[in-house]
Amino acid sequence: MDDAQARRWLATAVAEARAGLAEGGIPIGAALYGADGSLLGRGRNRRVQDGDPSVHAETSAFRAAGRQRSYRGTTMVTTLSPCWYCSGLVRQFGISRVVIGEARTFHGGHDWLAEHGVEIVLLDDPGCAAMMRDFVEGHPALWSEDIGDA
Ligand SMILES: [Zn+2]
Repeated sequence: MDDAQARRWLATAVAEARAGLAEGGIPIGAALYGADGSLLGRGRNRRVQDGDPSVHAETSAFRAAGRQRSYRGTTMVTTLSPCWYCSGLVRQFGISRVVIGEARTFHGGHDWLAEHGVEIVLLDDPGCAAMMRDFVEGHPALWSEDIGDA
């Protein structure tokens, strides 16, 4: 896909991540875009805010999008490589493409998704990496809890 468009879409996910950070949450944001490029839903990790470990950025954006007849051609945009849970969501619903801000601070399931035909666009955005690195250094226990590594 077009790199400039991928980065514009990433900006939506980054805005969600920053809002989460401002709320005292884990700074991971996501957005689901339709095949026509329209924004279907956006969201952020709300483990801390809602006390709900199942509200990851991707699941939050997915739920905000409501029911879609088909996910063919849709793109999940996320600031961080998707965990197994969110990678499973992408495969379960047949989301066609995942745009990822960075995979340096956490390498999730995106290689597995690529093996199964999902288009992966890894932007390696330094701003996303810095945001997560700062967060993980400041809140190591919270981060371990989030990735199921506590
Ligand atoms: Zn996840």
